[in-house]
Amino acid sequence: MNREIVNIIKQQNGEKPKKPKACVVTFGCQQNESDSEKIKGILEAMGYDITDADITGDLTLGAHDVVIVNTCAVREHAELKAFSRAGQLKHYKDKNKEMLVGICGCMVEQAHILEYIKKSFAFVDFIFGTRSIHKFPEIFYEVLVNKNKILTNENIEELIDEELPVRRGSAFKAWVSVMYGCDNFCSYCVVPHVRGGERSRSGDKILEETRSLILSGYKDITLLGQNVNSYRDPQNAGYRFTDLLRNIIKTDGDYFLRFITSHPKDIPEELIELMGARGRFANHIHLPAQSGSDRILGLMNRGYTRDEYMKLIEKLRETVSDIAVTTDIIVGFPGETEAEFRETLDICERCGFDNIFPFIYSKRKNTPAENLEDNISHKEKTDRFAELVKLQKAVSALKNRAYEGRTVKVLVESEYKSGSGFLAGRTSSHKLAIFEGDTSLIGSFVNVKITEGKLHGLYGNKK
Ligand code: SAH
Ligand code: SF4
Repeated sequence: MNREIVNIIKQQNGEKPKKPKACVVTFGCQQNESDSEKIKGILEAMGYDITDADITGDLTLGAHDVVIVNTCAVREHAELKAFSRAGQLKHYKDKNKEMLVGICGCMVEQAHILEYIKKSFAFVDFIFGTRSIHKFPEIFYEVLVNKNKILTNENIEELIDEELPVRRGSAFKAWVSVMYGCDNFCSYCVVPHVRGGERSRSGDKILEETRSLILSGYKDITLLGQNVNSYRDPQNAGYRFTDLLRNIIKTDGDYFLRFITSHPKDIPEELIELMGARGRFANHIHLPAQSGSDRILGLMNRGYTRDEYMKLIEKLRETVSDIAVTTDIIVGFPGETEAEFRETLDICERCGFDNIFPFIYSKRKNTPAENLEDNISHKEKTDRFAELVKLQKAVSALKNRAYEGRTVKVLVESEYKSGSGFLAGRTSSHKLAIFEGDTSLIGSFVNVKITEGKLHGLYGNKK
């Protein structure tokens, strides 16, 4: 990142009679949340006051000097949502001509989207992709000082900039990226196309960051990567994800250590053993299955069979007692037959997931699956989706009921509902826990005796 430019803008902002305001509106996954924390960090270093305004109905938005929308491209629905929200900014910009509007994230890494923005979102001042966050100061300088629009995404450099400032959204929960990009090319997925190839951060830098978070009182740390198990230290390819974990947990403190996402084909036995020894690992793993049919898994280019996936879950449950397992499922992949969908229902039932994130297949430009004939009607897809959700609701409710009578450690995150006297937090297994308590407990661990396990969470009393 060009510090000199950051300082020039900071100086200029310092001369203004009132501190300028900026906000970043985020769509999509944890990686986007984490990227937004960096963009906010850069804006803050440039002298902006960062607000948490959201586009929906926030009438203060028009009073901002900069608004940036961080977008997600993983499904069409996400893109439409981002466009619809970004469209609302025109209204604010009409009223406040000085306001600068930017769009960043996965969507703008696609040429056809850039064309669309140029054609239909003429009020947008600048864009920058997921691989150009380090270039944001230069791009922004062109727009702010030289009054040029930047609507191209050229000369992408897939480098890792360790110097980006971060403005964390929480004082007790933190994201830490360990790697960026993805080399897996699952046939339906746009991520490798919009986030580029795998690049891992230096192990020492990750350790430095996690250690400093733990020492400053962070209690929930999630290591991020599209596929964390393909982590390789750039200076030492023999130093892998499990080595990194072993070193992170050497730092003393009271915290849950999480990681997301793990690709089922890449989970080594060593990781399972490490989680089994417990230590500081949160008792949860997210392992996207995507489908229960071998033919569909093959077409998806997932690299494992249904049997291998189920054996992995079995091994995890044997070694890591009481581990919560969650998954992602896609229904309606091109050509998925009714019988193949039944295999997905069956794998979900057999694996007994604590929760699933179900998605209806969405055709993505430039992915291999784009060329497969999408012969399943919308109704069939939504029916399958509804049937899967119904099954999972029953399984999740059962899983949560099993917590009744148990006392669990909970990291208190917020008030449940403002002024209700109830607090909401997360267990090690990442379940929502709701109980009565004082807001002064937010950010600390408490023990909660669960009296009722309902579908969406665990209710109980603080011990
Ligand atoms: N790297 C992560 C996250 C990928 S995106 C992983 O591999 O798990 C998150 C989820 O979105 C995927 O697991 C998949 O279930 C879903 N997804 C991705 N592309 C999709 C598409 N084209 N249509 C529907 N769901 C999709
Ligand atoms: Fe997409 Fe597959 Fe990579 Fe996950 S592992 S980001 S689903 S290509």
